[in-house]
Amino acid sequence: LPSIRSLSESIQVNKLTVIEAYSLLEADGLIHARQGSGYFVNRTVTSGFTKRSNFAPAQEVIISEGEGSFFHQYTSSIQARRQQNIIDFSSGFPSASSSNYLQKIAKRALTKTGDNVFKEDFPQGQLVLRELIAQMLVQPGLEVSPEEIIITSGSQQALSLAMQYYLQKGDWVIVETPTYHGALGILENLGAKVIGIPMTAEGMNLELLEQYLKSHRPKLIYTISTLHNPTGITTSQEHRQALLGLAQQYECPILEDNAYEGLNFEPVPAPIKALDRDNWVTYISTFSKTLMPGLRVGYMVVTGEHRQPLVKQKLLNDLHVSTVSQAIVSELLASGHYRRHLSRLRTSNLQNCNVMLQALERYFPDAIAWTIPKGGLFLWTHLPNHLPIQAICRDALSEHVLVANGAAFFPGGGYPAMRLNFCHTPEDIEQGIKILGRILKNYLTP
Ligand code: PMP
Repeated sequence: LPSIRSLSESIQVNKLTVIEAYSLLEADGLIHARQGSGYFVNRTVTSGFTKRSNFAPAQEVIISEGEGSFFHQYTSSIQARRQQNIIDFSSGFPSASSSNYLQKIAKRALTKTGDNVFKEDFPQGQLVLRELIAQMLVQPGLEVSPEEIIITSGSQQALSLAMQYYLQKGDWVIVETPTYHGALGILENLGAKVIGIPMTAEGMNLELLEQYLKSHRPKLIYTISTLHNPTGITTSQEHRQALLGLAQQYECPILEDNAYEGLNFEPVPAPIKALDRDNWVTYISTFSKTLMPGLRVGYMVVTGEHRQPLVKQKLLNDLHVSTVSQAIVSELLASGHYRRHLSRLRTSNLQNCNVMLQALERYFPDAIAWTIPKGGLFLWTHLPNHLPIQAICRDALSEHVLVANGAAFFPGGGYPAMRLNFCHTPEDIEQGIKILGRILKNYLTP
């Protein structure tokens, strides 16, 4: 793009107007800034979800168990992942490349903790871990006390406890479309009725949200505010403020899922919970995306009168999280290893993400659009509407490439899409994307 100065001179407008126009284009995901070199067009994103979803209607859905259910998808993808020689772009977790180093720390943690690790524990979780998490949360911008933290078995349990607490069978609940399919699985099980509000480049469409808050009086808003799964969108600061304002106005609590906390390549706004003065927001996160999903350590931040009933629900659910897992996470946090690990992880994720972006440029046909991630673990690809996504995923699997079918992330059907995890070796990325590109070309060529 022409420089701000030359553009303002050639069309004779104020420089500030051009700056504002460029910022709007950037917010819409159409261009990006490269420090020192100016603005560049995001060729791959221009036909992507951000534009189309602005015009997509909201969906009202009662989700039902079946082939597309979270249960079916989860179990079948675990089965597929265990096969030999699979390039697994479908997983929602980091690669196991740091497992040796984490194993050493795990051993050290168990030696240090002594006998306590063999005893039962408090339902809310170990105090030392809650204190360390409270300290860690200062960085993303949350000031909470250890009493306001509940350690959960992954953030999946946190989601489940909070959704059970806020929702009854038949209640309306707002989700973003697309959204995390594991949350849809819980809502299906609870018999909740889902309203899907389309994502825009700024976060969920607030005009539609307000309409539905007025007309349906939902009991909960579920949002993945930072590095949204699956689109990667981070809800902007203004949107966060406005979303909380609407929640308060219509007395509808927010469940803020920040599972990808700490995995941002660029600065992100503080969580919505940081703006919450009257306990409208329950915040959840996890160590699954930064350490190991198998540890099953997540947590929720619950304030005010909601805390005690949720601690009780946690007790009734599974007494408490494994003491072994809690001891390992405590050791990582207390020793400073976690901070260093996170910084290395971000660097390697960014490198792998760039390798995947280059491979996509090389092998994917022009008709496919994809996002340029600002962190997290995935990029989101958008296929032309006529492409049979299920057959494409099946063909990929027959060539040992596993991808997440985008259909899983829509409560009531969406556009054909794939979610691709970029946490892989450059060789696997190159090989896997080459295979996918060939399959896609076959479907696009008459
Ligand atoms: N929330 C989001 C947005 C997720 O993507 C996931 C995992 N894919 C979870 C929650 C659950 O993860 P875990 O239970 O392992 O913490």
